[in-house]
Parts: sequence; structure tokens; C-alpha cells
Amino acid sequence: MLIVMHHHATKEQVDHIIAAVEAMGLTAEPIPGSLRTAIGVLGNQGYVDDSTIRTLPGVRETIHVSKPYKMASRDFHPVPSVIDVAGVKFGDGQKPVIIAGPCSIETEEQMLTAAEQVKSGGGQMLRGGAFKPRTGPHSFQGLGIEGLKYLQQAGKEYNLPVVTEVMRIEQLDAVCQHADMLQIGARNMQNFDLLKEVGKLNHPVLLKRGMSATIEEFLAAAEYILSEGNRNVVLCERGIRTFETATRNTLDLSVVPLVRELSHLPIVVDPSHATGKRMLVPVMTKAALVAGAHGVMMEVHPNPAKALCDGAQSLSGEHFAELMQEINRLLDFLGYQE
Ligand code: PEP
Ligand code: MN
Repeated sequence: MLIVMHHHATKEQVDHIIAAVEAMGLTAEPIPGSLRTAIGVLGNQGYVDDSTIRTLPGVRETIHVSKPYKMASRDFHPVPSVIDVAGVKFGDGQKPVIIAGPCSIETEEQMLTAAEQVKSGGGQMLRGGAFKPRTGPHSFQGLGIEGLKYLQQAGKEYNLPVVTEVMRIEQLDAVCQHADMLQIGARNMQNFDLLKEVGKLNHPVLLKRGMSATIEEFLAAAEYILSEGNRNVVLCERGIRTFETATRNTLDLSVVPLVRELSHLPIVVDPSHATGKRMLVPVMTKAALVAGAHGVMMEVHPNPAKALCDGAQSLSGEHFAELMQEINRLLDFLGYQE
């Protein structure tokens, strides 16, 4: 970290900062300039908490050189990670994984039909929410444990590993028993207690980007999981909040190549929540794959018009099958092998 002093900072103020840095067990290296002094902070193992120093008299700003994430970064782990979810692999050198299924698990029959459609279309994983983070309390909140059973059964029947969202620590046992991968939704990306608990498990995690999280915050959230010992993290870009109202969110595709450079963790894209519009899902899916996504997660429902949640952004089974043909042609063109 670099501490930049005001040009009018006194020598006493500079000395005071040096003493404060040393009191933190770190080394302070003053760098006098023609206009102002800067103080280099050395000896830290990771991110320095600057909350006190920033407010001391004479300090203009602090500039972080180390990032708030280390284990998630490529500097720490230069080789890209490949995450295995019950035999389905996410990461460099792997064919991108297509995860599909309904927003919410509604009935046993709906889940079995959706799984059949995902499998016959060529998807590799099945999704479905049992615990739903709905904006309002009057909307369908999900079937809970009963839904987890339908999801697990449908996954087994069609040989598709399953992913589902966990919203609270108390749900972790049940979700681990029924699902191959835990999803942390956008609204819980900074639920640090949940992240820490998930970090103590071995279950693979799909960590979605918070709707107003920066890339740094996104990777710092992954760091919470990694630093507790769970290395099986796949990131998911699902759109961010901007001024635009024509789409549900704004798909930030540049995050894909950026994360691939900054981190060793695989990243997938969710074009359904990113756009909120069925019509945009195919083209944004293909754009995500061209940008280098390690997979795509999209909502597919046997009858989108009757879906209890997110029907407007869900593809029908037929529409999914058509899109999969285009995806396969694109993946051939991009040089991916089976
Ligand atoms: C979901 O994938 O079901 C979901 C609720 O998405 P997000 O957390 O990205 O809003
Ligand atoms: Mn949804």
C-alpha cells in the first residue's frame, strides 16, 4: 500500500503515520517528492486494512497495491483451475458446460419434463430453484425440501448433475444431500457468513456476481470460500444494475476475459437473468462463448407462459434444442473438441 500525504502535511504528521504503520507490525518507507511525501507500506502478507490510517491528519489518500483477494488470483495460482461437478468439468481446455432448467422447481412432472428436454437438447447440467430469493414476499417462494427431491430425482433419471441455490446456512445440509453443486445467488454474494460456511465444505459452488458488485468485490467474495478450504468455485456473471431499463440487467461480458486474466477460477455466464428477455438469450449465449466463458446457465421451462417465476426469460424445450444446435456449430468453429 502507498500512503499519499497532502502537500501541506507537516513532518510531525508524516512521523505520526510512520509510527502508526509500524504499530501495525509493518515497515514504512517515506518517499519524499517535490510536492508531497508518499509512504510505502512494506511487509504485509495481503490486503492492508487502511480504515484508521486513511483518517489520520495529513493523509490525502491510500493506494492499494495488493488486492483484497489472493487465493482467487492468478498471481497466487497461475495454473487455471478445472472444477469437477460429478464428472462435468468447468475450466480451460474443457468444452463449455451448458446448464439449463427452470427458474423454480414447481412440480415433479415439470422437473422431469425439463430434465428430459435439457438432456435431449444436449445440456450437461440441470438447474432449478427450491429456495427462491424473490423481490416481494407475495411471489412464489419455492417448494423448499420437497423441490430438492424432485430436482435430485430428475437429475438421477436423466444422468444430469444438478445445481440449486442455497440462501441460508441452515439449508446447507439439505441442499448438499440433494444437489451436486451449491448456487450462491446474486443477492447473497456478500453474505459473508454463508460464504464462510460454504467454504468449509467440499461441494462445488456456483458463485453469482452481485448485481452491483465490482469485479474486485466478486473475486473477494470467492476468496471467502477459498480461504476456508473449499477450492471448488465457479464464478457466474449474471448482469449488473445500470440505468438501462430495456433489459432486466446489463450483461457485463467484458468480465469474462478480465476474470480469466485476474483469476484461475472458471467463469460462466447466465444470459437469462442478465437480459430478462427470451429473445436476447440465444445471441447473448453465443456472445458469452465467443468471449471465452467456460459455460452458460440458462432458464428452460416446459411451458414458459405458465412458469411460476421468470417465464419471460425462459426458453421452451424446443427453443433450447434449436439453440443447442447453434451452440454446437459455434463450439466446433471455436475449435472445442468433445
Ligand atoms: C437464479 O439463478 O435462480 C437466480 C435467482 O439468479 P440471481 O441470483 O443471479 O438473480
Ligand atoms: Mn430466475
